[in-house]
Amino acid sequence: MFHTKKNNQVRQFTQIMEKDIRVRMAPSPTGSMHIGTLRTVLYDYLFAKKNSGKLVLRIEDTDQSREVEGAVTDLLLRLEDVGIVHDEGPFMDHANEKIQERGNYAPYTQSKRLDIYTKYVNKLLEKGHAYHCFCSSERLDEMRKQQQKSKQPPMYDRTCCTLSPDEVADRIDKDEKYVVRMKVSRGETITVDDLIRGKVEFKSDTVDDQVILKSDGFPTYHLAVVVDDYLMKISHVIRGEEWLPSAPKHVILYKMFGWDLPVFAHLPLLLNENKSKLSKRQGDVSVEDFLNKGYLKEALINFVAFLGWNPGGGQTREIYSLDELIEVFDLEKVHKAGAVVDVKKLNKINSHYIKQKDIDELYDETVKFFNSDLQKKYPNANKHSDDRDFLKRVLEVERDRLERLTDFGQENAFFFGDITAHKDLLTWKESTDDQTSDALKRAREVLAEINQDNWTRENLASTLMDAAGDDRGSFLWPLRAALTGEKRSPSPMDCAWVLGKQESLSRLKNAIDLF
Ligand code: GLU
Repeated sequence: MFHTKKNNQVRQFTQIMEKDIRVRMAPSPTGSMHIGTLRTVLYDYLFAKKNSGKLVLRIEDTDQSREVEGAVTDLLLRLEDVGIVHDEGPFMDHANEKIQERGNYAPYTQSKRLDIYTKYVNKLLEKGHAYHCFCSSERLDEMRKQQQKSKQPPMYDRTCCTLSPDEVADRIDKDEKYVVRMKVSRGETITVDDLIRGKVEFKSDTVDDQVILKSDGFPTYHLAVVVDDYLMKISHVIRGEEWLPSAPKHVILYKMFGWDLPVFAHLPLLLNENKSKLSKRQGDVSVEDFLNKGYLKEALINFVAFLGWNPGGGQTREIYSLDELIEVFDLEKVHKAGAVVDVKKLNKINSHYIKQKDIDELYDETVKFFNSDLQKKYPNANKHSDDRDFLKRVLEVERDRLERLTDFGQENAFFFGDITAHKDLLTWKESTDDQTSDALKRAREVLAEINQDNWTRENLASTLMDAAGDDRGSFLWPLRAALTGEKRSPSPMDCAWVLGKQESLSRLKNAIDLF
C-alpha cells in the first residue's frame, strides 16, 4: 500500500458534514471488551456527540465459531460502566434481564440479517461481480502450498471463475458445497481515502477474490460490513488500523454495488510500553481488568481519549471530563503513529479523579475493593469493616495518596485492628523515657478535653498543632506512633480523627503504660 498526501479531504469531509453523521461500533462478540474497542467506541461517541450525530452499535457475529457466550452482555455492561450511551442497537433491558434492540435499522445483529446478505450477494452474482466457487478445502490447501513454494502471494487461482452458468446450476443442483467470491478486477489502483492517513493506495492485483458468502450461508465480515454500513446509513467508518488492509476490498464492494463511500478513519494501533502491539501477556487489555484494578471510569475514559489523539495547539492539559472531551475532540487530529498504553500516566490521571470526586460517590465506588482480610497483620482487624462512617474517614485521609481504589486501606491496616506499641518506636530522637511519657500523657489530656461534637479533622489539626507549639517532633511523633504503631502513617491529627475519641484515648493509654 502507498500513502500519499491528504487531498480533497476537506471537500469530501464538508460534503459528508452536510449529511447526517452516523457512526457505528461494530464489535465481534469474541470475548470481553478490549481497551482498543473502548477507544474506538469513545472516538465514535465523541465524534457523534460533537456533530449531533448518532452512534449505532452493531454486533458482527458472522464468524460463529469464534463467538463467546455472554460477550454481548459483557459489552453492554461495560458501556454502562463507563457511561457511553449509544443511540441504536442492542441495549440491556435490566427489568427483564434481556437484550433488546432499538432503532430504525434493526436487526443490529448480523446473524439475524442473513436473508439481507443473500439478497446482496445475488445482486453481485447477477452483475457478474461475484462467482460461485466449489473448490474443496483440500484443493485450496494444496494450491496455497504450491504458491508458497514458488514464492507467490497466497491468492485464489480463479479455477471456478470461468465455470459456465449451466455447470454452476448443475453442481448446485447436485448439492455440491460452494462459497461465493467477489471478482476483483485486475490492473487497477484502489484508493482508500482515509481521514487520518490521507489517500492510501493498493494495487488490485494484490487483492484476493475474497469469499463473501460462506458454505454455511453466512456472509463473511467483508460483505456484511459493507452492506450494513450502507443500509444503516453510516457516514464515517471509524475503526482500528488493523482493518486498513481490508479497506480496499470494501471500497471495491461499494463500487460494485454503485454506492457512495463512507469516510474512513483508521485509528492508530495500541502498543505495549516496549512498542510491540498491545498484548495480554504484557499487561491488562480488557476494560473489565482495568475497572477491577480500581480505575475510575472517568479516569479510564480520560486516559483512553488520549491514546492516539490530543487537542494539539500546544495544549498540555491532560484532564478532561467526557463533556469537555466532546467539546474539544477532533477526528482529523487523530495521530497516525501507534499509541503506547502507559499505565503510569493512567495512575496519575486516576489519582487526580480520586482526589476530586465527591466523597460519598468515591466511597460507593471504593468500598467493593476494601479488603477486610487484614487480620494477617493485626488481630481483631475486621471490627470496622462494616462501619461506613469509619471507612469513609479512612478514605478521606487516604484519597490524596491513592493511585488505585484497590489500594484503599492497604497502607494503613493499623486503623482496623489491635496494634501493639513499642517503646523504641514511641521515642522521638534523643528523648528520654520521661519526656516521651510526658508527651503521651499531655496528648491524652488534650484529646480528652475535646468533646465529641468537636472531634473534626480541622479542630483536631488546630488543637494538636497549638499543643505541640515549637517542639513539634517530640510531641507529635509519640502521639502518632501510639495511634498507629507504625513508622509511617498519615498525620496524628488525621489518625485521631479516623479512630475516634475512644479508640484514640485507649491506644494512648496502652502506650503510656509501657513507661
Ligand atoms: N467486527 C470488527 C471487529 O471485531 C469490526 C471492524 C470494523 O469496524 O469494520 O472489530
